[in-house]
Amino acid sequence: MTVEMHAGLASEAGSKLKMLISHVGNLPTGNEKGLFYALDLGGTNFRVLRVQLGGKGDGILHQEFAEVSIPPHLMIQTSDALFDYIAAELAKFVAQEGPEFNLPHGRTRELGFTFSFPVMQSSINSGTLVRWTKGFSIADAVGQDVVAELTRAMKRQGLDMYVSALVNDTVGTLAGGRYTNKDVVAAVILGTGTNAAYVESVQAIPKWHGPLPDSGEMVINMEWGNFVSSHLPLTDYDHALDVESLNPGEQVFEKIISGMYLGEIVRRILHRMAEEAAFFGDTVPPKLEVPFILRTPDMSAMHHDTSSDLKVVGNKLRQILEISNTSLKMRKVVIELCNIVATRGARLAAAGILGILKKTGRDTVKNGEYERTVIALDGGLYEHYTEYSKCLENTLNELLEEEVSKNIVVEHSNDGSGIGAALLAASHSRHL
Ligand code: ADP
Ligand code: MG
Repeated sequence: MTVEMHAGLASEAGSKLKMLISHVGNLPTGNEKGLFYALDLGGTNFRVLRVQLGGKGDGILHQEFAEVSIPPHLMIQTSDALFDYIAAELAKFVAQEGPEFNLPHGRTRELGFTFSFPVMQSSINSGTLVRWTKGFSIADAVGQDVVAELTRAMKRQGLDMYVSALVNDTVGTLAGGRYTNKDVVAAVILGTGTNAAYVESVQAIPKWHGPLPDSGEMVINMEWGNFVSSHLPLTDYDHALDVESLNPGEQVFEKIISGMYLGEIVRRILHRMAEEAAFFGDTVPPKLEVPFILRTPDMSAMHHDTSSDLKVVGNKLRQILEISNTSLKMRKVVIELCNIVATRGARLAAAGILGILKKTGRDTVKNGEYERTVIALDGGLYEHYTEYSKCLENTLNELLEEEVSKNIVVEHSNDGSGIGAALLAASHSRHL
């Protein structure tokens, strides 16, 4: 991972790790002030949010959000259809703004746009979509400036709003994390997909030819979901999943560690056991043939089943896969499978974090000084899959020397990405 990080920072096509430059040279300080909106698009749901920032020392005075799920057909249609839907929901949310939020008279509302797909940014508030991930596939949006697409859709809705910042969710989470804890230097998302961002020294970015930020630092969006290496423990199941996916050959790391895929890997293994070892009897249960029928939240519910007769496992197998009369022994095997697949994912995610720590020299004690390092983590997988997050944290401690591991903490940043985008909109406001 560390080697690929160097390569990706050296030149644009240097590595499968894109190491995208975020154009964020300064993270929030706490002085941000005023009313700002954020829109977070990146998976199955999108969120809209508004915050009233108090300025120096006062923090967040008010905040409100709404969450809307994206109709699956819009994930594979046209750019206009997707952005029209989003802009319409945003307009509804803005219309509900109460008197506790206040905007100077005559001023246009400003928005931070969290867009969690690979984007080649040309400035803090513009950038073109490199490709879709996580089940999205809208051909006419690829190569377009997503801020321009959103701005046009807002105009069509009659919504007067200015996009001041375009950020990846990892960058938003990093910004949100830093606002509450100044030791935050990296952010990792483990949700439907996975990605990471961290603070890099500008000197270590040979491919950056732009102006040098005063801080001497730049936030890098690694797009680590696309990491690939001959050292990854890939199996036949992974190869088959990849070949049959919407994006073969891409997002290989994501396909073994993130929420969209873990349940599907378990389904593939069970399917083979049914076919080759008659694990569920003489016939292969037809539902086991259906791709993505076993979702990661169901896998996690089975994995966490502590009842003596493993009834959660029994129920899930019956309800989802229509397999009844499973024995206790079979249920135990299913849990063991969940454990194997989740453990591999969590340990690899921890190894990725170690890569960032190594790259930034935070994996060792420097001149006898203990530098505190906080990594902000977010995403539904990390948040809800306890066995996974426990394993990730244990592995990270295992990989680090004891003295170092005491000063490296993983912290849950609850919806930092939305607030982070609003904070970055504030610090890049056109009214500054
Ligand atoms: P997104 O990544 O789509 O922006 P989230 O961060 O909320 O959204 O993550 C949602 C993902 O988290 C789901 O797709 C699922 O894979 C995973 N997830 C949600 N709930 C659970 C759960 N209880 N156990 C395991 N994984 C879960
Ligand atoms: Mg998200």
